[in-house]
Amino acid sequence: MLELIKEFGSPLYVYKEDILRQKCIEIKNLVTYKNFVPHFSVKANTNIHLLRIIREEGLHADTMSPGEIFMALQAGFTSKEIFYVPNNATKEDLKYAIDRNILTSLDSLNQLKLYCLLNPNSEVAVRFNPGVGAGHHEKVVTAGKNTKFGINLTDIEMVKVILKQYNMTLVGINQHIGSLFMDADAFIQSTKYLLKIALQFDNLKFIDLGGGFGIPYHKQNDETPLDIKKLGKKLDKMFTEFTGLYKKDIQFRIEPGRYVVCECGNLIGQITDVKENANTMYLGTDIGFNVLARPVMYNAYHDIDILSKNEDTKNTKVMTVVGNICESGDILAKDRCLPFYKNIIEDLIVVKDVGAYGYSMSSSYNTRPKCAEVLITNDKAKLIRKRETFEDILATMDV
Ligand SMILES: *Cc1c(COP(=O)(O)O)cnc(C)c1O
Repeated sequence: MLELIKEFGSPLYVYKEDILRQKCIEIKNLVTYKNFVPHFSVKANTNIHLLRIIREEGLHADTMSPGEIFMALQAGFTSKEIFYVPNNATKEDLKYAIDRNILTSLDSLNQLKLYCLLNPNSEVAVRFNPGVGAGHHEKVVTAGKNTKFGINLTDIEMVKVILKQYNMTLVGINQHIGSLFMDADAFIQSTKYLLKIALQFDNLKFIDLGGGFGIPYHKQNDETPLDIKKLGKKLDKMFTEFTGLYKKDIQFRIEPGRYVVCECGNLIGQITDVKENANTMYLGTDIGFNVLARPVMYNAYHDIDILSKNEDTKNTKVMTVVGNICESGDILAKDRCLPFYKNIIEDLIVVKDVGAYGYSMSSSYNTRPKCAEVLITNDKAKLIRKRETFEDILATMDV
């Protein structure tokens, strides 16, 4: 770790290729049902080197924006391997996908109408709100009553009217109920509802169940992972039953983001300070919320390790780990019991499970250039994204 920081600087995102490949294989083997294609939700991590590996492993891509479509195409995914699932898309966004022959799913009646006007007599998909949500934080529950996503079941007839009016074929329906469920009950329940909806449309080629498969962030407290084998068995049964009813071969898809990339990534930073204020011990680091936004955004928890230069004087202390951003809310971990060493300043801190929504949500707030990313393959480190420079930031202003 120390060598990596010496070579590539701090803070640094570090990914392990073998873990990434293993996760891709796990998710591909989720079910035995033949026509099953997981689509990696590109927003979790858009580094092209990781996308290429994911593509090599046979996953397709699920995208939210023209930028993600662009990156997926650059990584080698074909138009057919890319699915576009936007929310509040502009005309320009939709045209970007249409011009590249990328199938799009619309998630409101207005968006569907707009799409039909731009691309009549074509194929389209629709995102339904199955009425059940799930997730680790209210901000990531994307179905049910409190959400901006999806078309409600009460609007199915309107969907049919619009499709007919513009001579469209509905080839797919999808859902995404939320992120990071550790218990699959809500996912199974919403899938049951979605399959019921599917029976109301005759020409479907696929049904897409969305993402949200959780990973155990609390490994240091022995959190049990999502029982993916059990989930797979349930899905297999539902898929087979459904094709019996539908009487046509149909593709099933899922859209995992986090499950695929999260656990292959660590974030390494440096400890810059330790100080006390009103009984709180603050451990200062160079990992602000510009580098990792999840803790500030969702109160997200990440396991933390400290790599000390003098292992022998170890103790533990409850500390609040903070970054270097000029805001009191810049907290990476609150009241966390961590190993404490005598000369802790300049020791390294490792934040675990940051491969998803880590770099992709980072920013250059406080004009701190976005950090570098490194890929470890067979114990060899390769720089897969350069650290941004001050000049890079200046360049976009065209001075
Ligand atoms: C974010 C998102 C996903 C992926 O969610 P994860 O929790 O990373 O699995 C899948 N589908 C859609 C539509 C999304 O918005």
